Order: sequence, then C-alpha cells, then structure tokens
Amino acid sequence: MTPDVTIIGAGLGGLTLARVLHVHGIPATVYETEPSPTARAQGGMLDIHEHDGQSALRAAGLIDEFRALVLEGREATRVLDRDGTVLLDMPDDGTGGRPEVQRGELRRILLDSLPADTVRWGHKVTGVRALGGSRHEVAFADGTTVVANLLVGADGAWSRVRPLLSDATPEYIGTSLIETYLFDADARHPAGAKTVGGGAMSALAPGKGILAHRESGGTLHTYVALSKPQDWFTGIDFTDPATATERIVQEFDGWAPELTALITDGETAPVLRTLNALPPGHRWDRVPGVTLLGDAAHLTPPSGEGANLAMYDGAELGKAIAEHPDDVEAALTAYEQALFPRSAAAATEAARIQDICFGDNAPHSLIDMFTGHA
Ligand SMILES: Cc1cc2nc3c(=O)[nH]c(=O)nc-3n(C[C@H](O)[C@H](O)[C@H](O)COP(=O)(O)OP(=O)(O)OC[C@H]3O[C@@H](n4cnc5c(N)ncnc54)[C@H](O)[C@@H]3O)c2cc1C
Repeated sequence: MTPDVTIIGAGLGGLTLARVLHVHGIPATVYETEPSPTARAQGGMLDIHEHDGQSALRAAGLIDEFRALVLEGREATRVLDRDGTVLLDMPDDGTGGRPEVQRGELRRILLDSLPADTVRWGHKVTGVRALGGSRHEVAFADGTTVVANLLVGADGAWSRVRPLLSDATPEYIGTSLIETYLFDADARHPAGAKTVGGGAMSALAPGKGILAHRESGGTLHTYVALSKPQDWFTGIDFTDPATATERIVQEFDGWAPELTALITDGETAPVLRTLNALPPGHRWDRVPGVTLLGDAAHLTPPSGEGANLAMYDGAELGKAIAEHPDDVEAALTAYEQALFPRSAAAATEAARIQDICFGDNAPHSLIDMFTGHA
C-alpha cells in the first residue's frame, strides 16, 4: 500500500505533486508556512514550456484550466541597447510554445483542484529528524509535530527537509535583482509602455540590465539586474525607497530616459531579490522515505525554467509513486535517477544564460541566442 504522502511547501512544485497524487487516488497533505493562500502576492508572469511545465499540467489533468489563463501576445520579445535602440523585436505570432500566465493564477488552479484541507496553512517547518526505518518526524514552529511515512521537501531554496539528504546550501551567484512595478502603464506611463512593448523587454550591458514584462491589466513589472557583491547591496537602505532608487539608477547613468524611468517612476518600493544557487549537479544518496523536488533539489540562477522544472518534478514524482504502489523506494529511486541528470543539465544551461544576459558580450549574446546563433 502506498503511504500517505507528506509534502512540505505549497509552491507550484508541491501542489503539482499533490494534484497528480490525487488524480491517482493517493492521499497527500501539504504543510505550508504562509497563513493563507492569499497571504503573499505570488510574483510575476511565468512562461510555461511545452516539454516540462505543460507536460506536468497535462499529468495533473489541468491543461484546459491552464489554457484559459494564458495572456495573449505576451510572448513578444525585444532586446534594447542602453541608449534605447531596439536591436531585436520578435512579435508574438502564436508559435512560440511558451505561453505566459500569472504565477498566482496558476497556483490558484492547482489549489482549487485539491480536496479541501489538503493544504495546512500556517505550518512553518522548523526541523525534521529520522525516526528509523523510512519514518521522519516533522516539527512545526507552533510546537506540534507529525510523523511522515513518505516525506517530500518542496519547500524551496532554504529547504528544511534538504539536511536529511545533503549538506549543500545555496550560495550567492554574484548578481541580484531589484523589483519595481508601474501600473496602468498605457495611460499613465506611455513611454515605458511603448519601450516594453507587448511582452518582455531586455535592455542589457555587461554586468547589468533592465528587464521588464507587460503583465495583465497594463502592469509593467521590472527587474533591475546588477552584478555586484552582496555587501554592495547591504550598504543600501531599502527601507528608504527614494534613496535606494536614487542609488540604483546611478548605475544606469547615460542610459535612455525611457529605460531609467522604469526604475525612477516605480510605484512600489524597490524590493531586493538576492539570487542564490545550489552547487551545479547537486545530488544525494538514497535515504529511505524522503526526497526533494523543485528549488529544494536544484536551485539555479534564473533561466525561466525553475517553476517549470518544479512542476515537472512534482508530476514525475507523483507518477512514479503511482506506478510503484507497493514499493515506495523503487518509486523514489526511479524518480531520482531521472531527476539528477535533468537538474545538472538545467544548472549548466542556467549558468550559460546568466553569461549570455550579463557577460561581456551583452546584449549581442542575447540576440545571438534568440536568433539561433548561440
Ligand atoms: C526573481 C525570480 C524570477 C523568476 N522567474 C521565473 C520564470 O520566469 N520562470 C520560471 O520557470 N521560474 C522562474 N523563477 C524560478 C521559480 O520562481 C522557482 O524555481 C520556483 O518557484 C520553484 O518552485 P518550488 O515549488 O520548488 O519552490 P517555491 O516556489 O519556493 O515554493 C516553496 C514553498 O514552500 C514554502 N516553505 C518554505 N519554507 C517552508 C517551511 N520551513 N515550512 C513550510 N513551508 C515552507 C514557501 O512558503 C513556498 O510556498 C524565478 C525566480 C526568481 C527569484
């Protein structure tokens, strides 16, 4: 008999696993630190790829619900030079195979597809310990505990489950992002709206960039990327938005005003996102009764794959458990044998994309990638 599955983390990976298990009639409980499904804004747009994210949604029986969320036209891509010259402009002709959806809406269709009470909100895991055999005790911040017969760490970059399997911890990749938003941009920020265009815009130079995306409702979501040591960022007081904005925009001296306006006209306080990664090729020896998926298993520099891979991992693990109803260890072995090379390849590709975006040949390296010359 397949044991109930205990999943830590209600991100896209953990929820996809819970849903695929449910499709196969296997019960799961997801413990999530956030107090409710709406406690935190879920971030921006995700392009969901045919071969991993969409494949996972098919396994979850949610591909039609997903298609209803797709924002038309958002696959358009442009690359600009620092002076605002448009170097590459690729319209969304509907053949890109990477439809864009809002992350929060994708999470909602997964949540809505699960039986009530599958997700236990407000359960922050503080520690896990082996009880012998394949059983593990999970401790929560409120002092309660549960015993898991099959435990899955889907709890992201700073996983509390990972120490059962490996000593690895994420390390700073040398680049951070600063996030800002402009709202109702066509009416209120027309120059910014025109610069970003209908989908994604990347204005790049070695070691820095302004990357923006048109989201639903005319929202422009901007990530400012800077390759700087961590202490450079800790020297900026992000609790003082005006001073932080001024310091960040200084790094873009001489850039076109329609680009820097995406920073200076920001309508939300700039938020620092420090980027970390696990060692490339991170893997572990089989430990009975526990495994990892998504960022907990293979956090990489941003490459547009992390959420897709987390969902794919969740679907693959769910299918493996369903295919080995009497032998959980065989299921986990089969899942991990495919996971490790897949994750190693993703880490290599993510490092390549970082170099393409912020290396010495930016922005031309990115154009070469889009036009098939890299
Ligand atoms: C700025 C940025 C932009 C990105 N853009 C893209 C993109 O365009 N496309 C893409 O595919 N990927 C993108 N990614 C990567 C993507 O966000 C991650 O790879 C993806 O969210 C991983 O999913 P996950 O389910 O493994 O983990 P997460 O999404 O991190 O979910 C983990 C869950 O576990 C919960 N949790 C954490 N700790 C505990 C605890 N102790 N106890 C209980 N619960 C806990 C968290 O609250 C969270 O709900 C981006 C990442 C960043 C930082």
